[in-house]
Amino acid sequence: MNATAAVAAAVVPAAGRGERLGPGAPKALRELGGVPLLVHAVRALARSRAVGLVVVAAPADGVAEVVGLLDSHGLDGKDVRVVAGGATRQESVRLGLAAIPSEVEIVLVHDAARPLVPVEVVDAVAAAVRAGAEAVVPAVPLADTVKRVESNPGLPEPVLDTPDRATLRAVQTPQGFRRETLAEVHARALAEEARGGLPPVTDDAGLVERFGGRVVVVPGHEEAFKVTRPLDLVLAEAVLARRRASDGY
Ligand code: C5P
Repeated sequence: MNATAAVAAAVVPAAGRGERLGPGAPKALRELGGVPLLVHAVRALARSRAVGLVVVAAPADGVAEVVGLLDSHGLDGKDVRVVAGGATRQESVRLGLAAIPSEVEIVLVHDAARPLVPVEVVDAVAAAVRAGAEAVVPAVPLADTVKRVESNPGLPEPVLDTPDRATLRAVQTPQGFRRETLAEVHARALAEEARGGLPPVTDDAGLVERFGGRVVVVPGHEEAFKVTRPLDLVLAEAVLARRRASDGY
């Protein structure tokens, strides 16, 4: 295996509007501790020695702005490229993947909206793929009990059942893949979509599952949470302040 093949590339889908966070800039460009979420996320990946290249899928009308932002923040000398993202997360990942050199064998996909993922999680996911898994997701046990309901917006929703909480995991990113596995499931999903088939998935491992692949879980981390609602930003600011106080992060 040559040096390029041994090092992973990361795709960062960052083209979402982030409407659940309230009005304002695209979510990836909102600030945390004075630095855009996206820059935190890219730095978190760049900190890993397993990652050699980061490809960001930016909002289609924000590519130049994202290039400027990334240029103005130090990124550990890693190769960072920016492409235009798509209308769905799945499309943004597919477009990012297309920009990765063909000799790269391991690809991580990391949400821009998870700015505080610890480097240990990035390393563990990449290591599990290097050790032979075709798809790896970091995940944590759930604190809440989960119920499946019959969707009935605005009205009380009948409960269908309660899955055993001990068997459930909340899945995070980065998710790691053999490049050829990820490219193949995205190509198949695109072909299916063109036939008016299944809806887009909310994570990449979901595509691997859809087409019969094997996905394994490694331990995630509570600080790898996704910034989705306003309260998540408050929590992220607190985590960042604690890190800055304790280790000059
Ligand atoms: O919407 P959700 O929170 O699941 O988004 C997860 C990640 O996917 C975010 O980093 C977001 O910017 C990205 N995304 C994207 N392109 C879209 C929609 C979401 O890159 N069209």
